[in-house]
Amino acid sequence: MREGRGAGTALTLGLTAFASPTVAVIVAGRVGATVGATPPARVDSPAVPAFRTTPYTVPVHDVMHRPGEMRERELVITLAERLGEGAATVPQGSELTIDLRLEGLHDGILVTGEVDATAVGECGRCLDPVSIPVELEFQELFAYSLDEAFDYSVRDDHVDLEPVVRDAVVLSLPFQPVCRPDCPGLDPVTGEKLEVAPEQDQRVVTDPRWAALQGFQAAHDDVSDAAGVEREER
Ligand SMILES: [Zn+2]
Repeated sequence: MREGRGAGTALTLGLTAFASPTVAVIVAGRVGATVGATPPARVDSPAVPAFRTTPYTVPVHDVMHRPGEMRERELVITLAERLGEGAATVPQGSELTIDLRLEGLHDGILVTGEVDATAVGECGRCLDPVSIPVELEFQELFAYSLDEAFDYSVRDDHVDLEPVVRDAVVLSLPFQPVCRPDCPGLDPVTGEKLEVAPEQDQRVVTDPRWAALQGFQAAHDDVSDAAGVEREER
């Protein structure tokens, strides 16, 4: 008896929490079926969170359920928060430009995008700031069905590109950015920045002993130029 009364009290409390008598009846039915067992603690919540528009959501009503229809759009998104957590990130406040193609298919909308952005970071060798162009493409199907079998679905006549773009950008960022491929880094003893050794830098040849070779190179070029002209004249 005591146990039954306890369940009744819980039921009464539960009922007062609901304003709608219809809901209360449903809840009472469920509780009634489990009298004696632990009262259900599960709070009903929609499986899919409510849709809201963001800079990443794109209306697609004009291509929905129209196989063969195609639209192109450009999105320019100012980042509310940075993308990436590593040595290179696309900073908060910077712009993502996305060229979009939206194609209507029988079972959904195929979204193809080209993303342009600029990541910033620090050279992993010499610690100089580096700026890294981010250019990538993505393609995803947004299904009309809300079935969980599909990674992405059309919601309220919109596609939400945020998870797609975010993942694509973050995965494209280098783990160890360098200011240039041959950056020699810092001197392990002094901590000073090492310069590229002169003999490795082919753009600057200051040794006078190479002067004769440079002359030879020029002469050689002249010969080939002359030969080229001669060929054209024939
Ligand atoms: Zn460097």
